[in-house]
This record gives sequence, structure tokens and C-alpha cells, in this order.
Amino acid sequence: SVPDYPQTMGHPRPLWMLFMTEFWERFAFYGMRWALTLYIVAEFFNGDASGQGFASRTYGAYLALVYAAAVFGGYVADRIIGYQRSILVGAVVMSAGLFMIMLPDERIFLLGLSTVIVGNGLFKPNISSMVGQLYGVSDARRDRGFTLFYMGINAGALVSPLVTGWMASYFTDTPMQQNYKLVFLASGIGMLISLVWFWIGRRQLKGVGRPSPEQANRMRVVYVLLGCVLAIPLVYLVMAKAGAIVLQWMLTVLFVGLSLLLLVEGFREGKVQRNRVFAMLIIFVFNVLFWMFYEQAGSSFNFLAQNIVDRQMFGGWEFPVGWFQSVAPLALVLLAPFVSLAWGWLDKRNLEPSIPRKFGLGLLGNAVAFIVLMYALSSLVDSRNLIPFWPLVLVYVLQTLGELCLSPIGLSMVTKLAPVRLVGFAMGGWFLSTGIGNNLSGIFAGHVSGKTGMTVASALSGFTFSFWLLAGAGALLFLIAPLINRLMHGVK
Ligand code: GLN
Repeated sequence: SVPDYPQTMGHPRPLWMLFMTEFWERFAFYGMRWALTLYIVAEFFNGDASGQGFASRTYGAYLALVYAAAVFGGYVADRIIGYQRSILVGAVVMSAGLFMIMLPDERIFLLGLSTVIVGNGLFKPNISSMVGQLYGVSDARRDRGFTLFYMGINAGALVSPLVTGWMASYFTDTPMQQNYKLVFLASGIGMLISLVWFWIGRRQLKGVGRPSPEQANRMRVVYVLLGCVLAIPLVYLVMAKAGAIVLQWMLTVLFVGLSLLLLVEGFREGKVQRNRVFAMLIIFVFNVLFWMFYEQAGSSFNFLAQNIVDRQMFGGWEFPVGWFQSVAPLALVLLAPFVSLAWGWLDKRNLEPSIPRKFGLGLLGNAVAFIVLMYALSSLVDSRNLIPFWPLVLVYVLQTLGELCLSPIGLSMVTKLAPVRLVGFAMGGWFLSTGIGNNLSGIFAGHVSGKTGMTVASALSGFTFSFWLLAGAGALLFLIAPLINRLMHGVK
């Protein structure tokens, strides 16, 4: 039973409040993400290249853990304090972490990142689950609502690196040294805006996401805060000590544990719910593959841009490597309305693809992107061993098209298929699968670059492998889609 919300631009009014809250949180998240590895090398290794390995490992672990923490955050919302309070506590903890990383001490910096991880775990899955709660079970606008919400995510991701990147190079005394402290400060402030936005706006939700009567006791919030304080040093230890391989094992164990818990709940609720959980878990596995290759954006594709792409523009001006990171969110914000319209148009004609087919399209879109790279690396390499500029841009656009078929649909799917008592936890599972993809992506990119750095040949073989795996998985998903649909029992 969904409250009777006023409608704004065709959607329940609180959608726009959640949109802006998430916009500012992503502003904070992506505003500082680009600076992390650069800052570690500059601040803790005096700019020496020997710090790059440590910086990359820390960055990889940070990203994997930030998404894995969502499992715990989702559970806290479902079972302990409800969604609204989890989001508020998460926002406070995350801001604290962002201000901590400004301090020039390596241990406090890592503790700050651990704090961001814990806070984000409480925030990110739960705000996504809340979007689903604005729509009734059979409301066909739900997928479109999630696509709009996803635009908010990417609008934040697009704007913030531009703002903080500009600040870092403008407000500095020594041209070689960027002002990273200011980047972290801006992120922290962005997170405070997110907190205030939700604090003021949450009344619009008309009680949705409030703690249930058993969860209402305020002492529970204190316990959760205590839990955060205990969790932060643990996260610190994992981030500082576990390598990518150990982390991979830990994430896999977490994923298996989560799957079992969801299945137990599914079995408890009967055959339909059990099958829906199965369907959701199968999709999660495909999601890992999508992000494993998509997230090379921050690793392999960056080295490709740096070493193998001809970035010389008119008048001798060189396109900055970092700017490629804005291509995907820009494409996303521009393309999302069209994809949303396309689903609506197909829906009216009873042609809208099913959830697994949309996922299949996502994987195939990602696969096609790699064909472009294979073509460029085998046929367009010039005498300087460089490829033109446009293939890499096209790669980002194609991957984004794939992302739009898959990622907002995934969020929406979780809110439809998960057992009601564990929606937040299942949303955590969705983000955990992203986290596993991120971690594998780092391991894979390490192989592509090898010991000597990326070459045309190593890139070509790595990207050919990526293509075949994605194309195979996409095709398989298309084939088994009817089976998965049967497991979903009418959920579309
Ligand atoms: N860009 C998206 C976000 O930041 C991707 C998250 C994900 O599921 N991988 O929310």
C-alpha cells in the first residue's frame, strides 16, 4: 500500500527529493574518487612513482568494499532501524569520513576511507530501495522512475569531477601540486548538502521508510552508531592488509552467505518467493560480468588513453586523459530520456523486453563496445603506434547504452523480486555484485598491463577476451530468458 503522493512530472513527488539527495551523495563520491590515487602518491610518497602500486591497490580495495558494505547497510535498514534512519546515519558517517581524509596522516587517511565505506554502506542501497517503495506493485512507471533516479546519480558523477578538478588546479600555489585537500572538503560539503536535503525532504515520504513499531526505539540508532565505530577499524584492516585475491575470496564468501540467507527467507515464504530469489541471484551473477569489463574505464581504458590514443586536438591542444571519465556520465544523462521513452513506446505495443532480455542487451552493448576497440587496435594503429581519438569515445557511449539497459533495471528488479522483509539486504547484494565486478576488473586490468605496461598487443588480446566473454554471456542470457521469466512468476 503506497501513500497517495502528489504527482510531479508524471512521478510521485518524493522521487525528485530522492533524486537530489542521491545527486549530492554521488557528487561527494565521484568528486573525490578521481583524486584518490593521485593524492596518495603525492602526499604519502612525495610524488614518487613507487607509490603507484600501493595507491592502485588501496583504490581497488576501497571501491570493492564501498559496494560490499551495502550488504550490511541493507540489513541494518531491514531489520534494525528502517530505511530513513539508515540513510541519515549513513550520511553523517560518510561526511565525517570525507572530512577525515583531509588530514595529512596516512593512517587517519585510511581510517577516513574506511569511514566513508561504512557510511556509504548505510546510505547507498537504502536510498535506492526507497525509490521502489514509491510505486505500487503493478505500477508500470517503476522502471522509468529508476531510470530517472539513475540520471540523478550520473548528473552528480558528471558535474563533481569537473568542479573539484577545476578547484584543485586553480587554488594552488605550486602549479605542479594540486590542491587535493580542497577536493575532499568540497566532497564533504556535498555530502552535508545531501544530508540536509533528505532531513528536510523526508516528510514528503509520508511515513514510507520510517522504522516499524519494533524498530522505533531510538537506542537502536545508538547501537548502529556503535556498530559503525567497531566496523571502521575492521574495514581498515581489510583495506590495508588484504590483497585483491584475498579480498576476492572474502567477497565471494559474503556473496554465498547472502544468497543462502535470501534463499532461506524465500523458502520460508513459499515456492513463488523462492523462485523469485533464484531468478534474482542468477541475474546478479551476470551483473558481475557486466561491471568487471565496464569498470576498466578507470584502469585499462585510462592507460589506453594515456599511451595509445592520439589526444592531439586542433591547435596542438591535448585532450586531458581524465576528461574521458566524464564521457560516460555525460552520455548517460543525454541518452537516459531516450531509453526511457523507448521502453514506454515498446510497452504500449506490448513489445517491451523482459528483465533478463534487457540484461542481455546490456551485456551485448558492452560487448559491442569492445569490437570497436578490437577494430581500432588491429586496423587503425598509425606509425606512432597510436589509435585515433573517436573509438574510445564511441566505446564509452556504447557501454553507457548497455548500462542503461541493465543498471536502473537491476535496481528496479531487486525491489520487485526480493522478499519484502529483506529488500534492503537484497539491494546490498546487487551492489555487492558490482563490487565483485570492480575487484575482478582490477585483477583483469593488471593482467592486461602485465609487468611492462600496456602495449597495442596486450590491449588487443585483453579486449578480445572481454568481447567474447560478454557476447557469450549476453547470448546465453537471451537463450535462458524464458526460463528466468518463469522463475519470476509474472514480475515484469
Ligand atoms: N554509476 C553507478 C553509481 O554510482 C554505478 C553503480 C553500480 O551499480 N555499479 O551508482
